[in-house]
Amino acid sequence: MPTDPTRPRPLLRFDSRAVFYPPDEATRAITAPIGIGSSFQYDAVSYQRVVDGERKAVNIYGRCGNPTEYQFEAQMAAIEGGDACLATASGMAAVSVALFGLLKQGDHIVCDWTTYSSTHELLDHRLTDYGISTTFVDMANPAAVRGALRPNTRVLYVETIANPTMKVTEMAPIVELAHERGVVVVCDNTFASPFVMRPLEHGVDLVVESASKFIGGHSDVIGGAIVMKSALLPPDFLEQIRWNTMVKWGAPLAPFNAWLLLRGIQTLPVRVERQCRTAASLAAHLEAHPRVARVWYPGLPSHPQHEVARRQMPRYGAMLAFDVGDADRALRVVTGLELACFAASLGGVRTTTQIPATMAFLDIPEGERARMGISPGMVRVSAGLEDPDDLIADFDAALAAA
Ligand code: PLP
Repeated sequence: MPTDPTRPRPLLRFDSRAVFYPPDEATRAITAPIGIGSSFQYDAVSYQRVVDGERKAVNIYGRCGNPTEYQFEAQMAAIEGGDACLATASGMAAVSVALFGLLKQGDHIVCDWTTYSSTHELLDHRLTDYGISTTFVDMANPAAVRGALRPNTRVLYVETIANPTMKVTEMAPIVELAHERGVVVVCDNTFASPFVMRPLEHGVDLVVESASKFIGGHSDVIGGAIVMKSALLPPDFLEQIRWNTMVKWGAPLAPFNAWLLLRGIQTLPVRVERQCRTAASLAAHLEAHPRVARVWYPGLPSHPQHEVARRQMPRYGAMLAFDVGDADRALRVVTGLELACFAASLGGVRTTTQIPATMAFLDIPEGERARMGISPGMVRVSAGLEDPDDLIADFDAALAAA
């Protein structure tokens, strides 16, 4: 729901916006209550508001929204710098609801070659069934983006820091290109998190995000968010797609998950600041390691978009990847780690590793994977909150044994 304009948060700096919310009106508790109810009793006033077609902030039924979710939406809008937010059951629900809310049969998307595997599959192998086509390009090349735009292009889609190559797209030129033609720019901010980068401040229209990662931060919740600040879209666009898409698909964020995410937001700046520092140390260490062929980290001068990242983002993120040559060695490294864990997801307090080629991107045909820049020996790392020296020792031991 739209952020309450009377709230002072937009005037506050990021860390204060993350931690602050007004006390609960009923109890004065300074922690958010959980509104667990799925059904809400009408009175004559709320009944009339529903009859009049007013949907916003009216509690009707849990699939349409719930008070804890509304609070999470307000917090997310505040930290992403948006005017409004729609919470969803997962990050993929955010991607799907945003795209199906924006697009209809015959529409066209321009998307970077490198995105999260399920997003790529949705665009390349599923939206096509509904008559929505996608041209994949290298967003680092504005000429390629310009060449891919068609009269029916409705969306330009990109990830802030792409999964898993850490590719960073310069937002200003592609936003300008898109907006000249009335094309909506959608950006997945999962890998960066709003602490590292706020795409809406760079002219992006819609941010989609898996809150299951850095926002939640503890690997114990699945959730997603769509956050908007756009001159192209109607101000009530997210409320429109809440009702015409999210509610119909049945993809709401559950109250307890909303509460866990609200709690996660409050510590996001301190967690991710430390995680970014650890990622930078680990990346520098691995780049100098004789058993590592290559490291992908936007903070390293060797990263292809290092200069873009330096100009565009206050931090370089907590995600990195490195290549150890082949798939077997990659597996020996990740299974040889004792402190870092070999696990599918990312963004939590524990350092996690993944082998993108044979895990998240397994279903992507090999040729497409190669175009994305994913090599068989690539290991992806999400830096956690462990002592950085212990982590480095852990990686050194695993690399030596592999
Ligand atoms: N976007 C990116 C960049 C991701 O890495 C992921 C999951 O790994 C998602 C979206 C989907 O998020 P969720 O698992 O919450 O659906």
